[in-house]
Amino acid sequence: MFKANQNYLRLQGSYLFSTIAKKVAAYTEANPNANIIRLGIGDVTQPLAPAIIDELHKAVDEMGKKETFHGYAPDLGYEFLRNAIADEYKGRGCEISTDEIFVSDGAKSDSGNIQEIFSEDAKVAVCDPVYPVYVDSNVMAGRSGEWIPSEQRYSNFIYMPCTESNNFTPEFPKENPDIIYLCYPNNPTGMTISKAQLQEWVDYANRIGAVILYDAAYEAYITEKDVPHSIYECEGARTCAIEIRSFSKNAGFTGVRLGFTVVPKDLRDADGVSLHDLWARRHGTKYNGAPYIIQKAGAVVFTPEGQKEIREQVSYYQKNARVIYDGLKDAGYTVYGGVNAPYIWLKTPDNMTSWEFFDHLLEDVHVVGTPGSGFGPSGEHFFRLTAFGTYEKTVEAIDRIKAM
Ligand SMILES: *Cc1c(COP(=O)(O)O)cnc(C)c1O
Repeated sequence: MFKANQNYLRLQGSYLFSTIAKKVAAYTEANPNANIIRLGIGDVTQPLAPAIIDELHKAVDEMGKKETFHGYAPDLGYEFLRNAIADEYKGRGCEISTDEIFVSDGAKSDSGNIQEIFSEDAKVAVCDPVYPVYVDSNVMAGRSGEWIPSEQRYSNFIYMPCTESNNFTPEFPKENPDIIYLCYPNNPTGMTISKAQLQEWVDYANRIGAVILYDAAYEAYITEKDVPHSIYECEGARTCAIEIRSFSKNAGFTGVRLGFTVVPKDLRDADGVSLHDLWARRHGTKYNGAPYIIQKAGAVVFTPEGQKEIREQVSYYQKNARVIYDGLKDAGYTVYGGVNAPYIWLKTPDNMTSWEFFDHLLEDVHVVGTPGSGFGPSGEHFFRLTAFGTYEKTVEAIDRIKAM
């Protein structure tokens, strides 16, 4: 009789969002007139920008004509898009060439798949709290060891607490990792890392022979000067870092699907094996390219017109973030994030647990957020609110919380 992949049996149930949905559904059933505002969503709500819609229409028409029809896309992605991405890196002073960019269907797939090119016994370090994809994809690959219920952690992973005391940037772990996942600006804390701090991580990774997998999905939300948009702004990153980007949060592509990963050719393992070659091989074997139509739409993001329109969308969410941040601060809450990210990470009042605060908000003011403990043990006593709602509802939700 066949056996299923035993690693999958170690996965902990993704209770977070299903528990939230169940609690909200039960509350709505008991209180059908409650006007619930959801500030828990990690999905954008504004429609695609006009320049992107125009390009989508054009590309669809091209697909209907013999002369301009496109079949399989090139493995790495179309050059028009990879050139536009490479130009953006150049504009930031990062030395990334077109053939180091791999276009994909999004940052979730890439951040989940990238672990495949590392050895099975690679030691993995993740932040705590964390975007769950990094953890679960390594559990599936057999790198986790056993789940320890009393500690809410896996035995073989290195967890790097991100707390108030370190301003939500991890310290170097005691044990040397092989793979380090970093995500800045961060989901869920909304906090970020200075260029000098990221440079220290790059130097550390080069020193101990580790790879940094850098998720920059929220790069477009950076407002402060000292915050790096790319890890390749740091010296030496070409020999230790892979960067993953998305079109989801900057251009609203969550339902369109497009992202990319940068693997520099200088990145080699202990035996000189090129990670670029392995990722190219993996991409060529398991992926047949992002759709032409979508890549055309993605390229618009890098045009002046596209930039102007998507900047407006990002500003809209940034304004919501300000409303949440300032409003909560006025109301006496301790708040983090929100300045360079669409996430606000607030400390629960009166030492409530994250779930107690969730119930309190839902029942007393009909606002839904996300309990911080769902992102890792260090998220306990914290709560995440997102800026992806409408301005009007965001203002109303914060007014309600202030009046609580
Ligand atoms: C939303 C998000 C992504 C984006 O994923 P896509 O698959 O490109 O939509 C990646 N990483 C983090 C941390 C995110 O929050």
